[in-house]
Amino acid sequence: MSDSHNILKTSTFTCVRCGLTVSAHAADGSRRNHCPSCLHSRHVLDHVEGGPSDCRARMTPISIAVLRDGSWMVIHRCVRCDELTSNPVCTDDNQLILMRMAVRPLAQPPFPLEAFGDL
Ligand SMILES: [Zn+2]
Ligand SMILES: [Zn+2]
Repeated sequence: MSDSHNILKTSTFTCVRCGLTVSAHAADGSRRNHCPSCLHSRHVLDHVEGGPSDCRARMTPISIAVLRDGSWMVIHRCVRCDELTSNPVCTDDNQLILMRMAVRPLAQPPFPLEAFGDL
């Protein structure tokens, strides 16, 4: 008789935005919480209090942060409760979307770039 506790949990999730079936483990063994294709995530962890969150709303990738060691993080914002999270970028994440988010602030500066001409 097989014990269901011994069966490895199928660790996949369905992307809330594009419907892709995503393995919860990236190729390098790290844990993945966002879709590699559209980079959207779902609010299932309470990052402030810890533990599971009952929000379960969609989380939109809004920007890139670079850590001291040079690794990239994706910043997600929950569409329902506005919580912000940061998650490591996986090697197979959509590089076009990552680059687009990374250059967006430079493409749309909130001040005129001509000011730097005087420096
Ligand atoms: Zn997706
Ligand atoms: Zn939320």
